[in-house]
Amino acid sequence: MSQRTSHTGLSRDIRTPVRRKVLISGGGIGGPALAFWLNRHGFAVTLVEKASALRDGGYPVDVRGPALEVVRRMGILPRLRDAHVDLRRLTFLDGDGREVATVDPHTVTGGVAGRDLEVPRGDLTEALYTAVRDDVEFLFDDSIDTLDQTGHGVDVTFRGGARRTFDMVFGADGLHSRTRELLFGPEERFQRYLGYCFAVFTLRNTLGLSHEVVMWNVPGKAAALYAVGDGDEVHAFLNFAHPEPPLDVFRNPQAQRDLVAGVFADAGWEVPGMLAAMRDADDVFFDGVSQIRMPRWSSGRVALVGDAAYAPSFLTGQGTSLALVGAYMLAGSLAGRDHAAGFAAYEQHTREFVTVNQEQVGEGEAALFPTTARALEQRNDMLRTLGATPPGEGLPAHSALTLPDFTSLT
Ligand SMILES: Cc1cc2nc3c(=O)[nH]c(=O)nc-3n(C[C@H](O)[C@H](O)[C@H](O)COP(=O)(O)OP(=O)(O)OC[C@H]3O[C@@H](n4cnc5c(N)ncnc54)[C@H](O)[C@@H]3O)c2cc1C
Repeated sequence: MSQRTSHTGLSRDIRTPVRRKVLISGGGIGGPALAFWLNRHGFAVTLVEKASALRDGGYPVDVRGPALEVVRRMGILPRLRDAHVDLRRLTFLDGDGREVATVDPHTVTGGVAGRDLEVPRGDLTEALYTAVRDDVEFLFDDSIDTLDQTGHGVDVTFRGGARRTFDMVFGADGLHSRTRELLFGPEERFQRYLGYCFAVFTLRNTLGLSHEVVMWNVPGKAAALYAVGDGDEVHAFLNFAHPEPPLDVFRNPQAQRDLVAGVFADAGWEVPGMLAAMRDADDVFFDGVSQIRMPRWSSGRVALVGDAAYAPSFLTGQGTSLALVGAYMLAGSLAGRDHAAGFAAYEQHTREFVTVNQEQVGEGEAALFPTTARALEQRNDMLRTLGATPPGEGLPAHSALTLPDFTSLT
C-alpha cells in the first residue's frame, strides 16, 4: 500500500496490490506450469532448478483429460500438437522374440486417439519454459538448502549462499523431493514402492522402427524399444520385478548398470545389444517404480505439487497430467485467498482426481508387467483379444475433474 496526495490536497490510500513473492523449487513439468499460473494470478515468482539448464530430451509423456485444457489455456496446445508422437503400433513379443500380438496403443493406455497427446518430455518442458521465461525469475544450478517458516514468511537459504524471504514456497522437485523431506520427513514415509525397477536410455535405431513400441517379455522382465518417429535413435526401456527397493544402488550409477545387466544377463531378442548400449550410454535414468501418497500436501506456507506430492508412477501414464492439473488448481486456489485457505481449497478440489488416478495402478501392473508365467499367459490372451478392439473413449479416471475458471478471482 502507498500514500499519495490527491489534487484536493488530502492524502489518501491507494491500494496498489503488493505482489506476493513466491519461490518454486523444480523446473520440470509442475514447476513451470505453476509459475505460469501464479504469475497470471498476480504473484512475483522465482523458480530454482538444480540442473544448470533446462533438461531437454527424455522419453515421451502423455497429456490427457483436463491437462489438455490446462495447456490450451496456457496457449501452448498448438505447439504440443506439432510435437505429438503419433504412436501407431504396440507389438508384444515372447521370450524367443516371436510376436504375441500387435495392438493400437490407445487400447492399452486408455488414451483417446485424435485427442490425447503424447509428446517427448523435452518438447513439453521447452514449451512450458518459453511460456514463462519472460515473467519469472529463473535460478539455475542452485537449490534450497534450508527453509525456516516464521509468522509472516519463509526464510530460505540457497546452496549457492543467497538468503531470501518469500511469502510462500512450493516443492515441484519430483518424486525424490527435497522440499518434501525438509518439511515432512524421509521419503520412505510416503513412498508406495510397487515392486519394479527400470532403466531408460537412448540407443541407435538399428531395427528401423518407426512410430512404434516393441516390447519383449518374460515373467518379471520387460525390454522395450520406443521409436518416437523415424529418427536414428530409439528409447530403450528395461523394467524388472524387484520385490524390495534396492536402496544400495539408487545413488550409484555403476551399481545400477550392474544390477540391470545381471537381471537381464540371459535374456533373448535384442536385449544383449541393449545392455551393451547401456554400458556406454550417457543418459541412463534408473529408478524404482513407486507412488507418493501423503495425507496432506502442505505445511504452513509451503505446499507440494506434481510428483513431489502425488507421483502416480509411470504404470498409470498420468504423472504429467497430474502435475499440470495440480499446478493449475494450486495457483487458482490461491487467487484472492491467503495461503491457509488456498492450500485447503487446492486439496479439497484436487485430491479425488489424484486418488482415482493413483488407483489405476493395480490394473496397469497386471496388464503390462506380469511376474509369473501364468499371469503372462493371461496377459497375452488379453492382448490377442485387444488386437481386434477399436480404441475406446478413454478411462473415466483420466477426465475425473472439470477445471474451474479462476480468472475472475484475480
Ligand atoms: C521412465 C519414465 C517414464 C514415464 N512415462 C510417463 C508417461 O508415459 N506419461 C506420463 O504422463 N508420465 C510419465 N512419466 C512421469 C512424468 O515424467 C512425471 O510424472 C512428471 O514429469 C512429473 O512432473 P514434476 O514436475 O512433478 O516432476 P519432474 O518432471 O521430475 O521435475 C522435477 C524437477 O525438479 C528438479 N529438482 C529435483 N530436485 C531439486 C532440488 N533439490 N532443487 C531444485 N530442483 C530440483 C529436477 O531437476 C526436475 O527438473 C514417466 C516417468 C519416467 C521416469
